[in-house]
Amino acid sequence: MLGDELLAKIEQAGLVGRGGAAFPVHLKWKRIKDLPDPKKYVVCNASEGEIGVQKDLYILQNFPEKVIKGMLFAMDFLSTKEAYFYINKNYYQKLKEKIDPLLAACREKGYLINVFVEEPSYIGGETGALLNAIEGKKTQPRFEKPSPSIKGIFGCPVLLHNVETLYDVARVAMDEFEKTRFSTMLGVKNEGVYKVETDEKVAEALRKTNNYPDFEFFVQVGGGASGEVFTSEQAETVDINNCGSIEIYKIETTSLQFLNKIFNFYEKESCGICTPCRDGSWQLKELLKNLDENSEIPWSKISPIIEVMEKTSFCALGKSIAPPVRSYAKNVLGMEI
Ligand code: SF4
Repeated sequence: MLGDELLAKIEQAGLVGRGGAAFPVHLKWKRIKDLPDPKKYVVCNASEGEIGVQKDLYILQNFPEKVIKGMLFAMDFLSTKEAYFYINKNYYQKLKEKIDPLLAACREKGYLINVFVEEPSYIGGETGALLNAIEGKKTQPRFEKPSPSIKGIFGCPVLLHNVETLYDVARVAMDEFEKTRFSTMLGVKNEGVYKVETDEKVAEALRKTNNYPDFEFFVQVGGGASGEVFTSEQAETVDINNCGSIEIYKIETTSLQFLNKIFNFYEKESCGICTPCRDGSWQLKELLKNLDENSEIPWSKISPIIEVMEKTSFCALGKSIAPPVRSYAKNVLGMEI
């Protein structure tokens, strides 16, 4: 397929990145294609470090050939023969037997897709950290400009997509695209990964998959660490399109339980480069350390810390602590913090 034809089809299908940012795929492709550099790379991000999200694992288990095809379409579009398949170690152990033969077949056709296996972590999926790792540097975000798509690895532009995006690219290129996506459902009767219609609401998707709770609940969507929290009533109006995960919590879940889950994750995953995230996540964890279920949550101390983390943390990890905490306080507890 000619590059312009595929680009037009991708635009028409309205493909957006499924790594969380939802950036239009065709704009990213065109930008990198137009760069004058003679060498460019395609990178597939199979890191998936958010709590509970397993949709990329599911796609690789069930449709690995589509993901690799998506890479090949991207490589042809950029006229490059070299790419990286960046995958966390746990996933690679599970998928090696499926992926390796597919990549060997690509090599026979002249497409070199290198496997890069990383230690599982949230920060390992951050763009700059991921590209640093491939270059043999420390797996931590980049401070310097320009954008990784301009100087990604070894000084060359990089077209980076996550697994689901490349799967979507293949579906578009092969005229199999339908407006669906995959979402991990947790805390429900039948936990797992489901194909959902992208124009559905969260509650509708839960009903259609026979997973609507028969108990009172609140829900976190888009990731068990950074996702926003909504009531069951609000779930009737929340779009599922950007929800890589839907996690149900019983209404009895206490603030201490919910916040401990969030704060422990950020403290563990902070790479420590910047002070707001490194110290802020540690302080948040300390604030809860000696509390029990009868203790008051120190919201007046939590609020300024998450505000500083949101405003001044260097990368998306530190910034992303505010939405789940604020939305939980506002929607579940009815308080602004
Ligand atoms: S925000 Fe956190 S994860 Fe990101 S660079 Fe700063 S310390 Fe590292």
